Amino acid sequence: MTATTDLITFITTDYAGITRGRSFPVADLKPGTAQSTGWVPANMSLTPFDLIADPNPWGSTGDLRLLGDEAARYRVDLPGAATPFDVMFADITDLDGTPWPLCPRGMLKAALDDLRAETGLNLLASFEHEFQLFGTGWDPAPAFSLRALRQADPYGPDLVAACQAAGLEPETYIAEYGRDQFEITLAPCAGVEAADRAVVLRELAREIALRRGWRASFAPKTAVDGVGNGVHIHYSLADNDGNPVSHDASAPGGVSQPMAAFTAGILRHMPALIAITAPSPISGLRLQPHNWSSSYTWFGDADREASLRICPVNRIGGRDPARAFNIEYRPADACAGPHLALAMLVRAGLEGLRADLPAPPLFSGDPALLTEAKRAALGLVRLPCTPDAALVALLADPVVCGWFDPLALETYVGMKRMEIALAGPVPDDAMCQRYAGIY
Ligand code: GLU
Ligand code: MG
Repeated sequence: MTATTDLITFITTDYAGITRGRSFPVADLKPGTAQSTGWVPANMSLTPFDLIADPNPWGSTGDLRLLGDEAARYRVDLPGAATPFDVMFADITDLDGTPWPLCPRGMLKAALDDLRAETGLNLLASFEHEFQLFGTGWDPAPAFSLRALRQADPYGPDLVAACQAAGLEPETYIAEYGRDQFEITLAPCAGVEAADRAVVLRELAREIALRRGWRASFAPKTAVDGVGNGVHIHYSLADNDGNPVSHDASAPGGVSQPMAAFTAGILRHMPALIAITAPSPISGLRLQPHNWSSSYTWFGDADREASLRICPVNRIGGRDPARAFNIEYRPADACAGPHLALAMLVRAGLEGLRADLPAPPLFSGDPALLTEAKRAALGLVRLPCTPDAALVALLADPVVCGWFDPLALETYVGMKRMEIALAGPVPDDAMCQRYAGIY
C-alpha cells in the first residue's frame, strides 16, 4: 500500500480562463512566509487547446513566481476524493516578488485599488454560474422542476456542502431551463475574493461531477441550438465603512448616482469588453436576442434580455433594499477568467465615475422592433457576436486597450487569434462539444 501525500496547489487563472498551477506537499507549507513556486511567462499564451500561441512575446525564455496568498486558501474534503481539494491563489511576480503586469489577479487588485483611492468606493461582486451535467444517463426532466433537482440528488447537496465548507457562501441552487442545466449563486463579497470564489466554484462543480463519472460543463453553449450557460456578474458599490451606496429610491430604477456613472462606463465600453468577458469562438452563439442572455448594449430594469440588468430586490417583511441592491452584467461566460473580466468591468466603471456619466436610458422591449434611429437614441448597439468582430471592437477602443500593459494586450490578442484559428471558421455542434470538454 502506498502512503498518500496531501498536496497543496498554488493556482492562477489565465487569459483562456483556465486554472493552472503547481503542487507541493502540504507539509512544506510555511505559514507566515512569502512562499512561491516557479512559473513560465509563455503559459499566458496558452490557448484552450493547449497549444502555445506562436508567435508570442515570450518564446521559451523567462521565469516567474507564483506567490501564494495565504488569505486565499481553499481547502475542502470532497466525497470520493482520496486527498483534500486544497488550493491557494497566487499572484504572478518576477523573481524578486515584483508584480508581473500581465497577472490577471494583479490586474484586478490594481483596478480595485485605483477605484478605492480615487473615489473612496469598494466593489462587491458575485458570479452567478450556469452549467450542464453530461454522462448522467437521466431522462429529460422538466425545466426548473423539482424532478430535475431530485433526479440529480445528491449532486446538489454535495456541491452546496462543498461550497459551504470552502467558505464560498452559496445562496441558491436551482435546476435551470436547459437539459440537465443547473445554476448556483453565491453571496456577494469583496472583488478579488469574488473572482477567487468563482474559480473555486467551477472546479468544485467539475470535480464532484467527475467523482460520479459525469462531466460538468460551463461552456457558453454545448450545442448551437442548445441553451446558453451564462456567468452573470453581479456588482454593487460600498463606501469605506462598508455602507451600501448603490441604491437611491428617488432615482430612476433606484440607481444611485455613483452606481449609474459606474454602470454607464461599463455600457460605453461594452462592445470592446466582449472580447474579454465572452471571449471564445462560441461565445457569440449565446449573445443572441430572445435567449435571455444579452445581445445589445442595453440597460434594463428587471429585464433578462438586457446586458446590464437592475436586479429586483426582495422587500417582503420591510427589508431594506439598499444592501441587496445590485446590477448584473450578463454578456459573460466561463471562457473568461473571472479576475480579468472583473478587472475590466472595474476599469470601465471607474472611467464612468471619473467622467461623472449620467444614468443610461432604461429600456424594456425588443430592440429589433425599433427603428435604427430609435435604437441609436437609446444607445442600443448590437454586441459583437463573432470572435473576429469582438477583437476588432476591442482594438477599436483605445481606452480599453490602455487598461492592459502593452505586452499583456499583445499576449491576449495573440492567444485569441491562435484560438480562433485552431477552433475553425464556423461554430457548429462539434465545436461546442469541444469547448464543453474544456470548460
Ligand atoms: N441561460 C441564460 C444565459 O445564457 C440566462 C438565463 C437566466 O436569466 O437565468 O445567460
Ligand atoms: Mg440563470
